[in-house]
Amino acid sequence: MSNKTTQSLEAAFEELERLAKQRDASSDSQSGQGMNKTSRTHSPSADANSQDESSATCVCGHHPLAIYLRNEGNLNEFAICPACDAQPRCEECQGTGQLRRFNLLTLKDEVIPGACQCRTGRRRAELLNQIGLPRRYRQTSFDAIQMEHLGQNNKQTHKLNDCRNRVMEFCETTLPFLNRKGPAPEKIFLTLLGPVGTGKTHLASAALKWLVEETGCSARFVDFLFLLSQLRETYSQNTSEEKILKPLREADVLLIDELGKGRAEKAWQLEKLDDLLNSRYNEGRITLLTTNYLPPEFSYDPVRSGFRTAPANESFWEQSLPERIGARMYDRIVESSVFVDFIGLPSFRRALADSYLERYKAEMLRES
Ligand SMILES: [Zn+2]
Ligand SMILES: [Zn+2]
Repeated sequence: MSNKTTQSLEAAFEELERLAKQRDASSDSQSGQGMNKTSRTHSPSADANSQDESSATCVCGHHPLAIYLRNEGNLNEFAICPACDAQPRCEECQGTGQLRRFNLLTLKDEVIPGACQCRTGRRRAELLNQIGLPRRYRQTSFDAIQMEHLGQNNKQTHKLNDCRNRVMEFCETTLPFLNRKGPAPEKIFLTLLGPVGTGKTHLASAALKWLVEETGCSARFVDFLFLLSQLRETYSQNTSEEKILKPLREADVLLIDELGKGRAEKAWQLEKLDDLLNSRYNEGRITLLTTNYLPPEFSYDPVRSGFRTAPANESFWEQSLPERIGARMYDRIVESSVFVDFIGLPSFRRALADSYLERYKAEMLRES
């Protein structure tokens, strides 16, 4: 190691020690004032141009891994709370994040950058960013599933609660496997069925986030229609679809949202998807699916599904899941899935639209 790097490392240690002292001092003074979860904002002056994080306040609500969703301008990503970050205070690595290990083969000390336990939060935040969750599902969690729109309807609250518990149960059965401490569970697919907007994607996204945070597994979110359009593009440009499919095949956990949606697919597209699901099945990889289409033995009852009449232009009303995705893919899904049905739950979006409509009507009445 050159003299220069040794010096800069020492300087870095000194700087970290100084920061740690400041942090201790400031957390002592803050704890006296009764810090709570509502004080989530930085003071504007500290944010403006100061690199000094020791004055930071908690923005993660004391999340166990200090992960929070950073929302600044166009930026919307998972990051580490500057106030709760374990690394600067880590005694194991003195804040460098690296581990030293004696290599028995080379008989030398080895430095592994970023390997220290205190970097776990950072690594998992990075994995969360790699999921590719659409912005509106990033905030979701098992605790944050909305129930308000169900109002006083105990039956529906009970039903959504039951759906959530069953999704959580499924996730728990996969933990030993994803932690590489046990065999794959008997059912490795989770399929969420039900009408548009009932919370399927919210719950499935919460499941992805939870599994990544708990185990550090890799996960991907993909929208069925978007995937088809990507496949079409590679086809028309005569490029390989491998670039698109490989990460989806290899992710430890994959969520395909809105399976079966869209116009009638070409046979070759369905074949690619069939291959994808088949490969994930054969490799024993956890796969989550959401769909508005039902198995043939189910049918939508408008009232039970939260609609007053059957909605027009919704093909999920008339077609079943196997009709949309083909018998082969459907059989694979049935064989390997735990099913959770959201039938009978009203749509979040519909409830929201109804409440706007009612408010609008009330305002119009008042004005006339
Ligand atoms: Zn925090
Ligand atoms: Zn450390």
